[in-house]
Amino acid sequence: MSALGGIMRGRRVRVCGGSLLALLALAGCDRLMDRQIEHALQARADRTILQSPGLHVVLCGTGSPLPDKDRAGPCTAVIAGGEFVLVDVGPGAWETVDLAGLPIGDLSAVLLTHFHSDHIGDLGEAMTQSWIAGRTRPLDVYGPIGTTRVVDGFDQAYAADQHYRTVHHSEQYMPAAAAPAVGHDVALGDAPEADAVVFERNGLRVTMFRVHHDPVVPAVGYRFDYGGRSVVVSGDTAKSASVVTHAKGADVLIHEALQPEMMGRIAAVADRVGQARLGKMARDTLGYHTSPVEAAEVARDAGVGTLVFTHLVPGPRNILMRRMFLAGVSDVFRGEVVVGEDGMRFDLTPAPVEHGMNRSASAGAG
Ligand SMILES: [Zn+2]
Ligand SMILES: [Zn+2]
Repeated sequence: MSALGGIMRGRRVRVCGGSLLALLALAGCDRLMDRQIEHALQARADRTILQSPGLHVVLCGTGSPLPDKDRAGPCTAVIAGGEFVLVDVGPGAWETVDLAGLPIGDLSAVLLTHFHSDHIGDLGEAMTQSWIAGRTRPLDVYGPIGTTRVVDGFDQAYAADQHYRTVHHSEQYMPAAAAPAVGHDVALGDAPEADAVVFERNGLRVTMFRVHHDPVVPAVGYRFDYGGRSVVVSGDTAKSASVVTHAKGADVLIHEALQPEMMGRIAAVADRVGQARLGKMARDTLGYHTSPVEAAEVARDAGVGTLVFTHLVPGPRNILMRRMFLAGVSDVFRGEVVVGEDGMRFDLTPAPVEHGMNRSASAGAG
């Protein structure tokens, strides 16, 4: 028995009061714990989704800047053709990415929609944890003009942490060259509906397009095309013709939504209880987001199959809030409507072999 084993055993005996029964029970607990650890490690190492045909989407953060124990900041994972990208990495979202069992060491890229803190807060975790999990080259981060500056800042902030880890675990396991993120500024033309292909590889085409989140400029959304299927992420935007244009015929439109009546009520109550500062903030947000009914109009005009709400302001916490949030939506859009939740997964099989889509809640955290 090693010295450590003896110390541990001694502790256990004390904890259990020395009874044989307690020791046997503890031995059973150890086996159970080992099995749970083994199961968790196997799930973490599962890379099958990378080889799985079709276009896969996991909602890793459906929240907003408003605190919500059930929703992380905005983050959407898209996996297809061996590529694994995240659109935004809001605060708390990385935990959901990890708990969803996604192959984090294979993270190919992060795509930023804009630089509000609720969309970039966990970028440092994405850089660090994907590297710890085995990422072997620098992490590419694409976004509108200004991305390189933001990413350079994160690299600077995490440089000491990266150094500690390489020294601690060795260059072989934590190669310093793979640690940083590399920002890529993608330029768009001046047109209100300007777009640009960010990259096209392994059959996945990623297109960036301008949206309207003024005074936040630039702000963009993304379209993903793979195997005849398509998914669009709106990013933060007021109702935008550019989203209609770029979501034409998409299978799934993941659109932000702010419920104006509910936010108006929050603002009025804030004023009444002497929190005018909060009231002003709430009212200011009304102008640069899209209401659920407006998002339904965008989905209808674009002819999408499924509308998924994300970046929910405020996040519905019960059936009553959910009904208020969705009021009027079904009058406008007759396709499937989904109120996004963290961990929700969509699997789009390749067209034209099959036109099915499966949805499941694969994990929940945030
Ligand atoms: Zn924003
Ligand atoms: Zn936002």
